[in-house]
Amino acid sequence: MRMELINLEGGKGDFAHAYEPEQLDLGDERIKLGSPTSVVGKVRKVGTELVVSGRIETCVQVDCDRCLGPIQLPIGTDFSVEYITGSAYEESQTAELTDELMSVSVFDGDSIDIDEIVQEQILLSIPTRSLCRVDCKGFCEKCGADKNAGDCGCVEKEIDPRWAALKDLI
Ligand SMILES: [Zn+2]
Ligand SMILES: [Zn+2]
Repeated sequence: MRMELINLEGGKGDFAHAYEPEQLDLGDERIKLGSPTSVVGKVRKVGTELVVSGRIETCVQVDCDRCLGPIQLPIGTDFSVEYITGSAYEESQTAELTDELMSVSVFDGDSIDIDEIVQEQILLSIPTRSLCRVDCKGFCEKCGADKNAGDCGCVEKEIDPRWAALKDLI
């Protein structure tokens, strides 16, 4: 979905959309979108600046870091993205670049790609590490069995070999 800036009345415009999972590309095959993703928001244009803000709600499926089992992760995130026009950005380049300007995006043209914002914001709200449950045991290092399913019977070495060598010295 694109917001045509020419359609903004008085520099304002609202949008709402629901995406089917296949309509968004998160660019990461380990992350699957679940239920329809909804976005509601508004665009405000003031001079050379444009602010797109709103809320995204969806559910994603990611792999558990330890056992690789699927985890359903509900996501609800508020966002606000600032844009400035290409020409305003170039002007700011000649001036000193402030932190504030580093975090804005540049837009050029007549429309803003809402899909791109939604994809980016979903990725930003997914934690870098996820566990299916706090005490997920993961796989056995020796036989590869899923230890959540039960004890595989392997005895895991508890002493680091380097310490074991030290112990012999005593
Ligand atoms: Zn797990
Ligand atoms: Zn084992």
